[in-house]
Amino acid sequence: MSSVSVSSGLRMNTEQLDDALQTQLTIRSDVPAVFYSFSFAQNPAWSSFHPPGREIVKYYHEVCQNYRITDKFECNTDVEECKWLEDEQLWEVKIRRMTAGMGDLSSKDRAKVVEEKGEHAVYSETEIVKAKVVISCVGGLVEPRGWPDEISGLDKFKGKVFHSARWDEAVDLQDKNVVVVGTGCSSAQIVPRLPKAPYNAKSVTQLMRSPPWVVPAVSTPGGDEWWEENSPKIMRAVPGLKELLRFSIFLGAEVQFLQLFPNTPYAEKHRKLYEEKILAWVEKTVPEKYLEILTPDYGVGCKRRIFDKRWLKSLNDPKVELTTMPLTRLTEDGVVLGPGATYPKNAKEEDYPEREVPADVIILANGFDTTRWLHPLKIVGKGGKDLVELMEERGGAQAYQGTAMDGFPNMFLIFGPNTATGHSSVVMASENMVNYSLKFIKLILNGEASTVDVKKEAEIAYTTELQEALKDTVWQSGCSSWYYTKDGWNSIVYPYTQVDFWRRCAFPKYYHWNIAYTSKGLSKTRRTRALRMLGVTLAIIGVYRWRKSGLGLKDIRGMMRNVLQGVLATAVQAWTVLKAQAHL
Ligand SMILES: Cc1cc2nc3c(=O)[nH]c(=O)nc-3n(C[C@H](O)[C@H](O)[C@H](O)COP(=O)(O)OP(=O)(O)OC[C@H]3O[C@@H](n4cnc5c(N)ncnc54)[C@H](O)[C@@H]3O)c2cc1C
Repeated sequence: MSSVSVSSGLRMNTEQLDDALQTQLTIRSDVPAVFYSFSFAQNPAWSSFHPPGREIVKYYHEVCQNYRITDKFECNTDVEECKWLEDEQLWEVKIRRMTAGMGDLSSKDRAKVVEEKGEHAVYSETEIVKAKVVISCVGGLVEPRGWPDEISGLDKFKGKVFHSARWDEAVDLQDKNVVVVGTGCSSAQIVPRLPKAPYNAKSVTQLMRSPPWVVPAVSTPGGDEWWEENSPKIMRAVPGLKELLRFSIFLGAEVQFLQLFPNTPYAEKHRKLYEEKILAWVEKTVPEKYLEILTPDYGVGCKRRIFDKRWLKSLNDPKVELTTMPLTRLTEDGVVLGPGATYPKNAKEEDYPEREVPADVIILANGFDTTRWLHPLKIVGKGGKDLVELMEERGGAQAYQGTAMDGFPNMFLIFGPNTATGHSSVVMASENMVNYSLKFIKLILNGEASTVDVKKEAEIAYTTELQEALKDTVWQSGCSSWYYTKDGWNSIVYPYTQVDFWRRCAFPKYYHWNIAYTSKGLSKTRRTRALRMLGVTLAIIGVYRWRKSGLGLKDIRGMMRNVLQGVLATAVQAWTVLKAQAHL
């Protein structure tokens, strides 16, 4: 019996992964690569401080190869349902193998293919496996948000429409009128590149609902050129330097958390200064006509900040237009905007009469379905309870430490609810969750426990604490963001520092768990407890005898000094003898 991980890349086949390396060549991580990579597999040879996506994919491939786990993946395979079998104390997992290419489609698109061509066009076979442990690594930003249903005319539109996360390389953008929907982190990297080679779009119209806070990207030590030329050499030559750099970036991010996110007087003061600095930079960078619509009316940090190198500058290009006029409908060869504008909030409708913008291609950079956790994976726990339904009954997506839910024994979520950070790296948070889960999984795989199941009261108390803490942060400062559901439930961010999350993961509160120990596990815990008791007893006796002997701290220090001198003298003597022997 094995453990099953519903994880990264499962739905793609290897060819598609290689294809992924060839696409979106210039889109880069906006978090420095040393931080957006594994702590245990630091790469000295990143080509730049913010390397392109394809290099990050290559890095992950190499880590898998180095740790010899490539044969543990089954690609182009969908996990459809996991069901807890109470009698057998096992998970029954329904796995569906897919026909070539289907793994890279979104679930919505796959459902469309099933509807049009039948099941056989998507699925080639179904298998049921049983597992002691299930670990869900289904990610959070996976299912692209589709076309907004309320916008009519999609069926009439003769051009191409695709999502930024499903970039269509077959679409030629040369001399085309392109409309980009959205002003998040993805679009900020896409828009500046469209008017330039190799895309050479004729015009780019970008639609924005409300402005994000745009801040300068973390600057590269020594400048881009210097870093690209020298960092691989230096990182290879100086042991521990890349780890030190990673740690410094982490520490910097932690300090920034305290300065930005809580509603403390310190953070409020700092936020104000930071906002003034950013706005001064925006003012210098963008054309004056955009200043008003690029000035947010909420606190910095409320939405994820855009770490920008090119977007704001690109707004000076006459080919690029940024507008807050809402998308109303599509025509055969264009998009109709307005009347009115969504920002500034006091915009008068008569100042923004309806107009049509020509469009050959529409790129949706409108984000992901983030608030329906695990969807469409179905997880059924004890008593036939559906995991997502249980979360909804309790107010919204939630899990104890973002990792476990009561009634779902031996099941762990990686990057579960409220584990993302607005300031740090998801890779690091995920490593913490993996290490936390392994402490419990170890018990099961070693035969020390048959089931581990977090307690209901612990889960509820944890979620209540988190949701309360979230109320006193900048995330509540009035922006609309993908962190919130329509009901105002934030299931995305963790309201404390990453040091705090690390602490919780490194030192589990075992008493928050129902652990069904086996006889092997029981004797091990008894042994450990007995040893601990013995240690405490010896310590108490030691202190008692020391007090009775009348010795003071001074005497103890003297004794310690003697012991130390003894050890040193012996070491010197041994070294002299060894040296003499070597000369013989
Ligand atoms: C555009 C973008 C920018 C981002 N920028 C940052 C950033 O700067 N910093 C940061 O820390 N994070 C960032 N993220 C967040 C990012 O999601 C995480 O950093 C990271 O990818 C999470 O890794 P993961 O393995 O948990 O999930 P993912 O990388 O999302 O992988 C999940 C995998 O599981 C597969 N899957 C899902 N359901 C099933 C199923 N039922 N059966 C089989 N397979 C399934 C999916 O197809 C996917 O391959 C960004 C995400 C996006 C999309």
